[in-house]
Amino acid sequence: MRHWVFTFLTVFATVACTSNKAHSASDTYSTAESVARGTKRILVFTSTKGFRHDSIPEGVRCLRDLAQAQGFAVEHTEDAKQFNAKNLARFDCVVFLSTTGDVLEGEQEDDFKEWMETGGAFFGIHAATDTEFTWPWYGRMVGAYFSSHPKVQPADQVVVDAKHPATTMLPARWRRTDEWYNFRGFESDIHVLLRLDEKSYVGGKNGEHPSAWCKSVGEGKMFYTAGGHTKESYTEPEFRAHLAGALAWLMNPAAAKPTIPSPASR
Ligand SMILES: [Zn+2]
Repeated sequence: MRHWVFTFLTVFATVACTSNKAHSASDTYSTAESVARGTKRILVFTSTKGFRHDSIPEGVRCLRDLAQAQGFAVEHTEDAKQFNAKNLARFDCVVFLSTTGDVLEGEQEDDFKEWMETGGAFFGIHAATDTEFTWPWYGRMVGAYFSSHPKVQPADQVVVDAKHPATTMLPARWRRTDEWYNFRGFESDIHVLLRLDEKSYVGGKNGEHPSAWCKSVGEGKMFYTAGGHTKESYTEPEFRAHLAGALAWLMNPAAAKPTIPSPASR
């Protein structure tokens, strides 16, 4: 009996410590003990070295819900030290959710690049293009760098590729309110999924320009969507469906590889 009590207390203390440690280092939504062996995992990264969006908590909650609905586990962190080869190997997808500025350094960048090019999956949301301006590989991988934005307002996005899981449920002209980015330019190998109609709002500087795209990155792949500035975005059914489709595509190794150029507009 005494032995049993001691064992129980030891196990309890270990679980409690592990749990506290996990929560102090990062906001872990699916603890190891609740995740079945073989469950696919997503790392949601929200480190900000520049502007910090107050929609990040809503974005994390939304991604957790969408991932769990598809049977995936989500871990959320702001800790760049999670970007090492051993830890990255646990994940099937990494999300940069409104990250800003220089969030990774040195070996973290090398290990993330290696993970991506050997079959990783990257999901960039909104300010993911306002991140790592001095890391050329990241700029090529994410497909464009943010330059400026007008005030939050409604605008029309035009579906360019309606066959992708992230766009198939959307109306041909998708009108919604967000903060619409201008970009410094676009990589030539992006597969464009949505274009922003600059005639439908005020302050666009790129002409009708891509606002969601995907591309291959070595053996891996990436997806980016420019929306997601506002808290409200993450409760909008259509924006959530768009994100859920992107996640499903990124998490499916058998999904079709992006082709260049994009198919003609429907
Ligand atoms: Zn923003």
